[in-house]
Amino acid sequence: MSDRTIPAPAPGGRPLSALPKAHLHLHMEAALTPQRTARVAAAGGIVLTTVDLERDFSTFARAYLELVQLFGAHESLRMLFDEIADEAVADGVRYVELGVSPAFYAEPYGSSDAAMEAMIAAGEAATARTGVVFGMMVTVDRTLPLEAALADAALAAGFAGRGVVSLGLANDERGHPAGVFAEAFSLAKAAGLKSTPHGGELEGPESVVECLDLLGADRVQHGVRAVEDAALLVRLAASAVALDVCPTSNVLLGVAPDLAAHPLPALLDAGVRVTLNADDPHFFGVSLLDEYELCRTALGLSDATLAGIAAESIRQSALPPAEREAVLAEIAGWLASDPEEIPHV
Ligand SMILES: [Zn+2]
Repeated sequence: MSDRTIPAPAPGGRPLSALPKAHLHLHMEAALTPQRTARVAAAGGIVLTTVDLERDFSTFARAYLELVQLFGAHESLRMLFDEIADEAVADGVRYVELGVSPAFYAEPYGSSDAAMEAMIAAGEAATARTGVVFGMMVTVDRTLPLEAALADAALAAGFAGRGVVSLGLANDERGHPAGVFAEAFSLAKAAGLKSTPHGGELEGPESVVECLDLLGADRVQHGVRAVEDAALLVRLAASAVALDVCPTSNVLLGVAPDLAAHPLPALLDAGVRVTLNADDPHFFGVSLLDEYELCRTALGLSDATLAGIAAESIRQSALPPAEREAVLAEIAGWLASDPEEIPHV
């Protein structure tokens, strides 16, 4: 049955901060809400310019690169991971799969490998303090030549089992089809990494098909335009592939006209596995908890549906199997509880 036929739940639903979840689509440089980014920038003596996204991906991509200047020092990198972990704790997030681009930082850290080591160390320190687990997604820039992607894939493969869990593919889809990078993704998969490219955001369903057929995608970041192809929805529903959906990002970058018209409910109705994510909180101003709240209030998703999405995020995470099972049991407990009896935090 569709959640869209159910009126929005009354205030007093189960507190979503207490719903355990994983965050699987989050880019490192823009991972913090603006207030948290400002703290890191101030500590490093850097003044950030204000950005007007104008619902335009190109403006967004340029603004994103400005943030790279922030994290070229060990101290600011550690502070970034601490802030990400603190936000995760506040949002009920147990696992963060973070999109990272070590090649951006080859110069300040001495090499891409050294930058990767620094990111993993910063993540491990934050885990020791908070319990939030990090998995790194080395991200290929699809606007660069294949050689750069092969270097990223080789680096990621070298860190497989040592902090890196997946190979991503980001930046502007238009004119940069996924298939060009098949060799890089095949190398990563051979090393045991997941394939987690962006697709079906700025291009249509054919871009999702390409991620599945040519990159062996385990998850597709965004993927929402799969909704335009009924056969693709059937294929996704029958598969183990999840779409890592980011509703606010889609609205602010013009992929969906507004939240009420977002394809998430249609994807759920079709039986597609979806997870909920914040993508770039620095630019979009929302945390993952905010996204869950918005799905409850603007899309009318029930607690059962939201718990199902959270459970899918945990199943798709790289947490050890025993830990996944324990968290899934906690999610079931959250749903089984009486919403009136859980104290709001
Ligand atoms: Zn993204």
